Amino acid sequence: SLYRADPARYTAMTYRRSGRSGLDLPAISLGLWQNFGGTDVFETGRAVLRRAFDRGVTHFDLANNYGPPPGSAEENFGRVLATDFKAHRDELIVSTKAGYDMWPGPYGSWGSRKYLTASLDQSLTRMGLDYVDIFYSHRVDPRTPLEETMGALDHAVRQGKALYVGISSYSPEMTRRAAAILKELGTPCLIHQPSYSMLNRWIEGGLLDALEETGIGCIAFSPLAQGMLTTKYLNGQPTDARAAKGGTLKAHFLSPENLERVRALDAVAKRRGQTLAQMAIAWVLRDPRVTSALIGARNVEQLDNSLDALKNTAFTPEELAEIDRHAVD
Ligand code: NDP
Repeated sequence: SLYRADPARYTAMTYRRSGRSGLDLPAISLGLWQNFGGTDVFETGRAVLRRAFDRGVTHFDLANNYGPPPGSAEENFGRVLATDFKAHRDELIVSTKAGYDMWPGPYGSWGSRKYLTASLDQSLTRMGLDYVDIFYSHRVDPRTPLEETMGALDHAVRQGKALYVGISSYSPEMTRRAAAILKELGTPCLIHQPSYSMLNRWIEGGLLDALEETGIGCIAFSPLAQGMLTTKYLNGQPTDARAAKGGTLKAHFLSPENLERVRALDAVAKRRGQTLAQMAIAWVLRDPRVTSALIGARNVEQLDNSLDALKNTAFTPEELAEIDRHAVD
């Protein structure tokens, strides 16, 4: 069906500056890790992408391996770019990454210049793009000199295949080193993509300080802890939810202790007049150093619910203290 972008799409979203760069990102960005692969229903994903753009989500996050099968999320996103989003390329921030297993042999994973350069070319082909806006090193490669991995990111920018570069899940120490190397190369690091949620607060232990010091933005992935920070697991396990699919949300995360935390956090959310998902998103954005909350959504309903988090992002000190009592690692 024909898609015409909503002319009011920029009225309700807020945009936040990524570190000390020139680039704004939407306070909520959409990731295509799950629900957009070859085994998913294309039209469902397409509807989510259209709705997101209609509500001011200008940033879509991908990686070479998103699917399943690996690569299929980029292919599906490429179909939408070629049709619905065709007239809007300059309104979009598209990111991709390389770092995890992608093809067999010694050059299909980790952090060599060989792998990153070939992988970005493959990603561009799958999405039908000349360039991505952000190209990431998806993880630290302990066996490759950081200079080589960062050199490959800089090379991608010099080739015109990426506008900005980022790193994902790097420790504070490795982040500082990466930032220094990239600065020296003349390609400043735009953004760091770490996990962060009320059930996973590792970035408060030094990473956010490192990002502030180095002027790097922060896009927090899995702010809903993959769906745990919703009420869906409080009365048994729904068959259509991620934990039932035997994938990345492991059963042991749904321990009685964690479910008790979720129940207590839901009580706070109810008093705030929002869903737990909405509070979880608003909570990661309470720190101005967090540029964007990077969510997933299985359908339009979930997306709409999550985007409504922006209707109430203010927390009282009492609310924050109460959340702190339950939101521990
Ligand atoms: P979330 O924590 O937002 O989890 C999304 C899941 O939560 C959905 O698939 C859905 O699960 C459930 N959900 C979402 N919204 C609602 C809602 N309003 N009400 C109820 N349930 C809801 O993020 P993801 O784990 O999906 O990760 C988001 C993105 O982060 C990825 O797409 C990717 O771009 C990035 N990422 C990056 C990583 C990295 O290494 N750099 C690693 C992981 C993610 P269900 O199907 O159960 O309903």
